[in-house]
Amino acid sequence: MKKLIIIGGGLSGLSAGVYARLHGFDTTIIEKNKEVGGLCTTWYKDGITIDGCIHWLTGSSKGNMMPIYKELDLLKGVKILKPDFFYKFYYGDSVIEIKRDLDDFKKELLQYAETDNDKELVKQFIKMVKKLKNMPFHSNKPIDTMKKTEIVGYIKSIAGIALTWNKTMHISLYDFSEYFNSEILKHFFISFMPKFYSLTYFAALVAQFTNDNADTIYSISSDLAMNVKNRFLELGGNIITGEEITKLNICDDKIISIESKNKVYDADYFINASPLPYFYNNLLDKKYHDSYIDYVFKDVYNYPLISTVYVAMKIDKDYPNEVDHFSLIYDNDGIVVGRSHNETIHYRAYPHNKNNDGSTTLIALVDLHVEDYDIFKNAKDKNTYQDLKMSIAKKVLNIYVNKFKDMEGHISIVDVATPLTFEKFTNTYKGAYLSNLATPVNERRTFDIKDKRVNNLYHAGQWVTQIGGIPRALSNGKFAVDELVFQNNNEQRKK
Ligand SMILES: Cc1cc2nc3c(=O)[nH]c(=O)nc-3n(C[C@H](O)[C@H](O)[C@H](O)COP(=O)(O)OP(=O)(O)OC[C@H]3O[C@@H](n4cnc5c(N)ncnc54)[C@H](O)[C@@H]3O)c2cc1C
Repeated sequence: MKKLIIIGGGLSGLSAGVYARLHGFDTTIIEKNKEVGGLCTTWYKDGITIDGCIHWLTGSSKGNMMPIYKELDLLKGVKILKPDFFYKFYYGDSVIEIKRDLDDFKKELLQYAETDNDKELVKQFIKMVKKLKNMPFHSNKPIDTMKKTEIVGYIKSIAGIALTWNKTMHISLYDFSEYFNSEILKHFFISFMPKFYSLTYFAALVAQFTNDNADTIYSISSDLAMNVKNRFLELGGNIITGEEITKLNICDDKIISIESKNKVYDADYFINASPLPYFYNNLLDKKYHDSYIDYVFKDVYNYPLISTVYVAMKIDKDYPNEVDHFSLIYDNDGIVVGRSHNETIHYRAYPHNKNNDGSTTLIALVDLHVEDYDIFKNAKDKNTYQDLKMSIAKKVLNIYVNKFKDMEGHISIVDVATPLTFEKFTNTYKGAYLSNLATPVNERRTFDIKDKRVNNLYHAGQWVTQIGGIPRALSNGKFAVDELVFQNNNEQRKK
């Protein structure tokens, strides 16, 4: 049996592990933390549950992702929640909800339109969302492993939406928002995602939700990771935790072995499921670098990435037992962290975030540009770093209490994570938690699954394709194995 080692036990590494076992590889996942899951994690502090990841799961009821979720047991025992709104945007005394019913959402937007031009823009946006409703996430395997008939089928499935996709890709959310006269609509369109990203992505998300294909779950994030881990173990896979790979030994353009501080591991094939930019910067010798990958991760202005300051708060007062996900706009002082690019803070609470003592965990995310990492990294000492993160967390809390005055005295800060925290735990690049999204100026970007220069190396992880998130991490894990099997079969045929 051919031996395969997967570096990194996040969702992508676990997914690769399951598919590798299904294809009969003797498979070991090596993970640096004591538990697998990577960014898809949950932790506990001061009696409260702090959920690190999922608020929306796309592809939750149809399309190419469902067979993968099923194969991996991702949603085993997990209840899907279908709230009738996706997200709320508070603006002064007004609120806009992205409703599951697209016509209702359209009415919601139109009530704030001040001019015929505003109405026309709303109608165009809704038309775009309708077109994108039937967008397949991606193919169900890497294109180069498809037969001709499969390629034709895939092209047919995307042909209908390709035009809309390309047209709107060249408009940023900010540019679109600036066409509105209505202040609330102007701000709404840049409230959900960083404003430099393409309008297409926001429209595509609304399309998934209103097409009943993006939901949330009545479970903590680590339940998802444990489900896939158990599936892998049931299939006979091995997991080694608490081992960080620090060195690759390459000979004749093949990885011979990999090393942690304590041990050397050898295998026939290797899948990298650690964050791709980290792998390039820290493990792979420069002579094997793909200049395109280096270029993309250096050009942070044209290929921006987002990171976050993540604030976990405890509310010890009755809180509605339902999904709550909204954003509040910064106060006059604003929260300016480095190259801050976003004027809203996202807050969320879920029914499954009720704690044993009856309190509710409220999570807030202050989105940052990846380069804001330097501000935390360059803090001159531990106290300066602590002061910086606490000053941001306090603002986040004050903005919330300013809006919901009855919460004053009932809400406290429990934990704060910065980009340095995310980097420390998962080696993710400068704390970024999602792969690139396209902006109007950058091209679509995906990297090779089969490494061009190292013969027995394949890449998985959310970074291989743009967008990122759980669906991408899982499908990229599968694709790495598809590609490995395809190459392997080709070699056998040649022999
Ligand atoms: C706050 C937050 C909210 C999010 N919300 C959502 C959401 O609502 N919906 C959604 O779809 N996605 C969401 N995501 C994104 C989602 O969590 C990630 O896209 C996904 O978990 C990435 O999986 P991955 O396996 O590609 O990478 P990772 O989770 O980064 O896994 C990489 C693994 O490799 C390990 N590793 C790294 N270096 C080494 C080494 N040298 N040796 C051994 N092991 C190593 C790491 O410890 C880690 O376990 C969110 C993420 C965050 C942080």
